[in-house]
This record gives sequence, C-alpha cells and structure tokens, in this order.
Amino acid sequence: MPELPEVEITRRGIEPFLVGQTLTGAIVRHRGLRWPVRRTLAAALRGERVRAVRRRGKYLIIECERGSLILHLGMSGSLRILPASEPPGPYDHFDLCIGEKVLRLRDPRRFGAVIWWQGDANAHPLLAGLGIEPLTEAFDGDALYKAARGRRVSIKQLLMDARLIAGVGNIYASECLFRAGIRPATPAGKVSRARCARLATALRDTLNDALAAGGSTLRDFVHTDGGSGYFQQRYFVYDRAGEPCRVCGRAIRSVVQGQRTTYYCAVCQR
Ligand SMILES: [Zn+2]
Repeated sequence: MPELPEVEITRRGIEPFLVGQTLTGAIVRHRGLRWPVRRTLAAALRGERVRAVRRRGKYLIIECERGSLILHLGMSGSLRILPASEPPGPYDHFDLCIGEKVLRLRDPRRFGAVIWWQGDANAHPLLAGLGIEPLTEAFDGDALYKAARGRRVSIKQLLMDARLIAGVGNIYASECLFRAGIRPATPAGKVSRARCARLATALRDTLNDALAAGGSTLRDFVHTDGGSGYFQQRYFVYDRAGEPCRVCGRAIRSVVQGQRTTYYCAVCQR
C-alpha cells in the first residue's frame, strides 16, 4: 500500500512530464473507484495548464489554473507516463491526456480516487483535516509528545492517524517503532518526552531512507512494462512474522491491532 515515500517518489517521477503542459482531456474506463469519477471530468480538464504537482499526505495534487486534480492511489494504485497509443490493461481505469502522452492510473483494487476540485486543493474536505507533514520542520519530538498527551490509543495507531500526522501507514509506523525500540501497543499517552523525540527522529529517518531507496526507480515511471511502481526495501519488521530479527535474531512477532497486522521484535522493542 503506497504511503508517503511511494507517493512522493511518484510525484517526483511524473512532475517533469506534467508541469507547464496543457491537458487535452481524460479517459475514464471505470468510474467506480473509491468515489465515482465525475462524468464531466474530461470536459473540465481540457485546456487546463498544469502549474505544479504537489503532495499532501498520501494525496497527489495536479495544480492547474482553475482548479486541481486530486489523486489518491488507494490500496494498490500506481501511475505511469505512457504514449497515448499504448493499449490499456484491465486495471488501467483512468488516463489523464497530455497530447501524445497519458498519465495512466492502474488500480486493481479500485480504492484510488480521481477528483477535480475548483479552488485551493488544501481546502478540499479530504485534505483540510490532514495533520503535520512528518518531513517538515513542524514535526519533531515535542509535536509528537503534545499530540500523544492523554491519549489511550496505541502509539502505533497514533502514528497512523492522518489527522495528526499525514502520510504514515502500517509499513512506516511499524518500521519506525522498531528503530525507536518502542512496542507498538504502548498507550500513546505513556510514551515519555525522550522516547517521543527518538520516535520522531526514527520516523523521519525511516521515511528518508525509503525516499532514497525510491530515487533509483524514478525512470520507471516512463516504462510501459513497469510493475506496481513501488520500490523494493529491506524492512526490519514489516511483513516478517516468524523471520529472525535483523538485530537480535529472535523471531519477529505479529499481532492484530486496530484491524491491521503489526510486526515487532519482543526483545528490541520495549
Ligand atoms: Zn530484535
């Protein structure tokens, strides 16, 4: 599932092909994404010039003159820049047309979103309530400590709460808790100021390492035979239940927490 680093790498991959270009339309092959794609979308986009491609949390924002196209990759979505003549596959539900090229959304599970919004994208209800961007200066141990005060929810669920911190899901929450040596089930309100500081640093490091890993895949955004668009990474705990911890060798454990599987090392995380 794409989280902040995957979405940011996607943004960097597609940005050079979009900024300054004039959109020539859109092809909607399946309207039934997370929310129905508007029938009038192609007409609304035609003739719009792209000013910028931004990211907020897990959302991509293609900023045009009269509005913004807001994209979300859902559970399994990926984007590619392709020649318009490239035949679409069964999961290629949406094309944004840019002359001879298209920005193509492949979304097997159809949890993605394609929304045209007139006006400031940050004011859209999906974006307006998003929390701090963890890679900005506004995010640090104190911000995390403040957000966690009096909260009985687990520290892992707090990290994944988009209203507090934008863009962090199961993978990066699990990984940064391992790096910080904190048990995922610890009540957020019980994590000390010093441990919050360590966790904030661990989250930034985890996200930055993922961005570095993804940097080598940028050219894949123009490959017709590209896979999911997600880069391979070597996780410490995520999806490694039963495998030996890379630090202490003990088997990684998994538990279900808030309907999501959480992975941790019972020795390294206290
Ligand atoms: Zn361990």
